[in-house]
Amino acid sequence: MFTYRIARELGAAEAGRRVVVPLGRRTETGIVLGPAEPQGEVRDAVRLLDDAPLLNGEIVGLVRWAAAHYLAPLGPALKAALPPGLDVRDALVPRLTEAGRAALETGQLDLPGQEQALRRALRKAASGAKLGRPVLSDLSRRGLIVLSREEVRPRVGAQLVETAEAVPGASTEELRRAPRQAEVLAWLLARSGPVPVEEVLVAFPRARPHLRALAERKLAKLDQVPAGPARLADAPWGSQEHTPTPAQSAALREITAAIDARSFAPFLLHGVTGSGKTWVYLEAIAHARGRGLGALALVPEIALTPQLAGRFRARFGADVAVLHSGLSEPERVAEWQRVRDGRAGIVVGARSAIWAPVARLGIAVVDEEHEPSYKQEDRLRYHARDLALVRAQRAAAVAVLGSATPSLETLRRAQEGKLRTLRLPERVEARPLPALTVIRRRVSDELITPELASALRETLARGEQAILFLNRRGHTRALLCASCGAAVGCPNCSVALVLHRSGGERLRCHLCGHEERSGRSCAACGGTKLAPLGGGTEKVEEQLEAVVPRARVARLDRDAASGPGQAATILARFARRELDILVGTQMVAKGHDFPGVTLVGVLDADGPLHLPDFRAAERCMQLLTQVAGRAGRASSPGRVLVQAFKPDAVALDYDAFAAAELRRREELRFPPFARLLSVRLLGNSEPRVRGAAERIAARARGLTAGGEALEVLGPAPAPLARVRGKHRWQLLLRAAEHPPLHRAARALQASHSVAGVQLVLDMDPVALL
Ligand code: ADP
Ligand code: ZN
Repeated sequence: MFTYRIARELGAAEAGRRVVVPLGRRTETGIVLGPAEPQGEVRDAVRLLDDAPLLNGEIVGLVRWAAAHYLAPLGPALKAALPPGLDVRDALVPRLTEAGRAALETGQLDLPGQEQALRRALRKAASGAKLGRPVLSDLSRRGLIVLSREEVRPRVGAQLVETAEAVPGASTEELRRAPRQAEVLAWLLARSGPVPVEEVLVAFPRARPHLRALAERKLAKLDQVPAGPARLADAPWGSQEHTPTPAQSAALREITAAIDARSFAPFLLHGVTGSGKTWVYLEAIAHARGRGLGALALVPEIALTPQLAGRFRARFGADVAVLHSGLSEPERVAEWQRVRDGRAGIVVGARSAIWAPVARLGIAVVDEEHEPSYKQEDRLRYHARDLALVRAQRAAAVAVLGSATPSLETLRRAQEGKLRTLRLPERVEARPLPALTVIRRRVSDELITPELASALRETLARGEQAILFLNRRGHTRALLCASCGAAVGCPNCSVALVLHRSGGERLRCHLCGHEERSGRSCAACGGTKLAPLGGGTEKVEEQLEAVVPRARVARLDRDAASGPGQAATILARFARRELDILVGTQMVAKGHDFPGVTLVGVLDADGPLHLPDFRAAERCMQLLTQVAGRAGRASSPGRVLVQAFKPDAVALDYDAFAAAELRRREELRFPPFARLLSVRLLGNSEPRVRGAAERIAARARGLTAGGEALEVLGPAPAPLARVRGKHRWQLLLRAAEHPPLHRAARALQASHSVAGVQLVLDMDPVALL
């Protein structure tokens, strides 16, 4: 432990300013939190960065709250609150020596064979471009450069992107003599809103002069806009001018009144799928902006919800800053700075956007608040939805949690009167919710039952679209040995390997990424006959070729959409009706709004019910309701076919399900009727991990005996007993409220000291496998 002294000459040591301090032989960037009692060695800070504090008091306060609640040290917690790429670090900086400069100028180098490469490296070094370690040490050995350790700061300027946009009403009519320009214009017309010029050039590599010509003819508009919003994938399809429904207006009235009151007011916007929640978010945010207040809108994953993000861009333009992983590091930092400097008053982003330095927060929206992706599963294990409530409370702002399938935690808060519920009970324009039919699937059936197959044919014959949902990627879920029955497993994890066919036949571990060629023999008995068990999305694609041979099919899962923009591209093609059927994992269940979809098929509705997680049923019902909600969102009604092994296990009414599930949770005393702390022990040696788990459990039971109002469940091996070579044991601590869990966590942290065994604490855990 060190304490750092900030000499007066360095500047004002305001809380939230970054400071460069020595740490060992390196320097590190830290953040000034305030005065401290000296502990351990006192060292001198090197310099203060930033003219103004990077994190304002509000964010520092939120970080402190989160670090305490989620049991993380403050340092990593502060890091989690800043965009990556702001750190100032030491790096090896090359400088040309006299010899190096001469070599570059005269071209005289001693080793003619490598002259070209060396000259290139030297030129790069002279311009400050990045060079690999081996190249640098080679150049320095030859005396052409000297290396010194210096501080490098990330270079962040305004990050602008050139965009092109068809002028509304433009037509290709007058371009009969300029077919290339007509082509580009038609492409722009097919996309609504501005498109990064880079993307146009991907589609038409030589289009630059055509774009200029189109701009001169006033058929297209060229512009420079901040990178973040410009990179939002395709803008919304379809017009957004609506007369609000009475329920939408009523919900908006309550929210705007609460915004005007400038005190903490949390809402649950419980609206069925297709009820127009987005309109309420946008209008409420517009109201807050009209009062000079800032807004935060959290979405589960921007890449999967390009429509929603696009609506923000269409409505608010450059007042929106976007924070998500599809941006490069400098773009993210630039977006973040637009927020900090007040140039953007609205932030749209995934969970880490909860830390965005929005000034004068008036409203925080959390769309699809039930999504598990709001929970961060490493470093600071926070839940962004819960933090949104905390942040709104601290800022005296309004929080709006929106969902068609609210989490039981949120429903319980509403029951207790801690949240006000606003309902949108009907779809817009009185469109019916899709009709649901459950089909009994026998174990011997193919993934696509004959009933579903004929429904698909009818749908395609009418020129409509379908979505098929199966929450398992890959082709075959497991290979079983025909003689001994063992599954071919991962060498590092206690799960079966999944067979993938697209992109070359491979067995893959979905936990650690281990890959091997298929066709292996059984590790247990050496048997060579391996039988396939269970299909995934790739297999569905394959079966569709037999069922509907002429259909245009695409797959949307983490394999098909691994790169940035790939998911958005597939979704945009589906939206433009270049595809008939979209097959996918939960990625297809997000808030997509495709008017052409009239059939949704759920291939394995009850499979995931069997996971050993107390939220398995809730998650299953949420996915089912969400994916069903993709059907019949325009004028043609939709229907949903649900295949299940046990049809009566599939409840079809979320509200009824939630009521029953709440009673069950209350009986079992699980959240939301109790608080949990998951305590996990990880290590390479099974006996050590087990021993540590037993000692921790005994210590926890000791606390109970000492009067702490908490219960200890376990220890036991985690359901996934081994992941990435680490054995895993866990126990759960349960209490009616958080304080006993916080006290126990601190005691356990202090008492744990088994070498080679890591202790991981997860407050309010979501992942229990
Ligand atoms: P949700 O998020 O509740 O599922 P959306 O906000 O995506 O629903 O809205 C569903 C569709 O209805 C969108 O295409 C939206 O443009 C449209 N919409 C929203 N409000 C209205 C309205 N008042 N009248 C007609 N259409 C509307
Ligand atoms: Zn593995």
